[in-house]
Amino acid sequence: MKQFQFFYEDEKTFLKEVRKIKQWCDRKLCSNLVFHIFTLTAIKEKITHVATIIENEIPKAYICASSSAGNIADGLLGEGEILVICNIYEYDSTRVKILQGDISNPESIGKFEKEVFEFLGQNSWVKAMEVLITSKGLNTNFWNDEHIDFPKNITVFGGSSFNTGFDDKNCVYSNVGGYSKMGIVLVLYGGEDFYISTDLVLGWKPLGRTLTITKNHDCVLDELDGKPAFEVYYKYLSVKNDIGFFKNSIEFPFSFTHKGTDCLRIPTGRTSQNGLQMNSGIYENSKVRISYGDPDAILDQVRSAGEKLSFFQPEQIMVYSCASRKDFWGEEDVSLETSPLQQIAPTTGFYTSGEYLSCNGYITNHNVAMVIVGLREGEKEEDKVPFEMPIVEFSGKIGMINRLANFVQVSNDELEEANRKLALAAKTDGMTGLYNRMEEKEQISKVMDSLHQGNIRHASLIMFDLDDFKRVNDFYGHAEGDAVILGLCKIIKEGLDKDSSCGAAGRWGGEEFMLVLPEVDGQKALEVAENYRRKFETTTYTHAPSQTTSVGVTEILKGDNLDDVCIRVDNALYEAKQTGKNKVVIH
Ligand code: GH3
Ligand code: MG
Ligand code: MG
Repeated sequence: MKQFQFFYEDEKTFLKEVRKIKQWCDRKLCSNLVFHIFTLTAIKEKITHVATIIENEIPKAYICASSSAGNIADGLLGEGEILVICNIYEYDSTRVKILQGDISNPESIGKFEKEVFEFLGQNSWVKAMEVLITSKGLNTNFWNDEHIDFPKNITVFGGSSFNTGFDDKNCVYSNVGGYSKMGIVLVLYGGEDFYISTDLVLGWKPLGRTLTITKNHDCVLDELDGKPAFEVYYKYLSVKNDIGFFKNSIEFPFSFTHKGTDCLRIPTGRTSQNGLQMNSGIYENSKVRISYGDPDAILDQVRSAGEKLSFFQPEQIMVYSCASRKDFWGEEDVSLETSPLQQIAPTTGFYTSGEYLSCNGYITNHNVAMVIVGLREGEKEEDKVPFEMPIVEFSGKIGMINRLANFVQVSNDELEEANRKLALAAKTDGMTGLYNRMEEKEQISKVMDSLHQGNIRHASLIMFDLDDFKRVNDFYGHAEGDAVILGLCKIIKEGLDKDSSCGAAGRWGGEEFMLVLPEVDGQKALEVAENYRRKFETTTYTHAPSQTTSVGVTEILKGDNLDDVCIRVDNALYEAKQTGKNKVVIH
């Protein structure tokens, strides 16, 4: 595999470059040539002019093109308007094919999808499919995993066309179907010596609390947690619905997980119903969080992608990176996330308005992502090629974002920890560490729900009340009384730790305790209670002599409500008190 990459300057220089490639091919092995043209504008004449020169000189070349919001050459954001990349495949076994479709109407999309499936059905050599697609036009079913079963053994990657003006003037082109403002170009690669490795870099971190999509249709996010989505977005970010909406929201996409893959989505505007227009599909009941770019997290992900690629040993690396990433870093710094890859292999690509990658067997349409693709022909030569992530000192805007991101992260972690402690404190009894009465009731209700839904077959309740406890306080003081209470709690806790039935114990009152045991029938609960009663009877204290407890037991029955079982277990306990104490009674 060999690569040439250069910017178009003028016709004469360009022709010279193309002839150089032609000569190289004449002298060396060359099974296929694939030209990629990435242009900052979607001007038809410019693209066809460049393509025609290539085609005249090298008629067998495959040529594809896309307008872009920035071109990546040698791992860096390039300055030229038209980037030309020529990939030369050397193995005879390597095969390439371009298919192009029209996405301007449902009929043409249907026809193209059928054509693609037929082709893939008849050509088992296909291992990878590169997608170049205009952002204007209808959505295809390829990445709608609810509808289509795409062959899982084909790796799909690519990007949507864009332009530097961030508007909808964009195009794709190939020498199969020509120039199109509403089209899709698929470049198929394969053969037994062709290898591919892909990776996804996001690096946006969730911020604040989780929101649930409660209403959506098509690509419109109508409601979050039952409220109009725009109101929620405005509340947190005060992004106004004006001409700058897209530019201001681009750095704060929603993050969520879909089919096991992390995804980001950017709102592009407000709908008349106060919903948010998204630029790709979203899914009802998804849990989403507003996210921000974290330079350290991004570069960490680039590091792991680079390490993975250094083992794969690609001969070429293609990058499809969201234009929002360029906006986030700024032109000065954006190459920080692509240039390290150049150590491994020539790295080229473009800034997109949507990225595609098949993950876990599904083709996902990403936003704000960087899709990295390593290509290789033949076996690897070494174990690993050298790769080292440069140490970066952030300055200017990115330095500021880095510190703010850190501040937000640390504050968020602290708040979450404080919330966690508060939530725990609201549920537990400070002295014993057991649940408080309110939470114990919740726990009993949960067990009862499981029983009533048939998830468990049995459940029981055990209630303890220390015998003549007032006397301990009166004779040995309150502190010793506390020690006796903790003596019983220790026995209950140890019992729960050993038992795998996930019972829950709570402090019902001063020296009264309740224990709910799922999957335990009345007879077994009686044995447990008797066991605890005996252990407590022989527990010793510093000053007070050993104490006793009375115990009530009841099995929870189908059809019981919370009051029924509490009254029944209380009656059993009362009977134990009335008939001599220090005993277990079951009702
Ligand atoms: P009985 O056998 O009938 O249950 O007699 P009893 O003395 O245990 O009577 P009762 O259950 O009415 O008494 C509960 C006593 O527990 C009253 C209260 O002072 C004491 N108590 C409640 N909470 C605590 C506590 O946290 N620490 C201590 N030391 N005593 C407590
Ligand atoms: Mg009592
Ligand atoms: Mg008592």
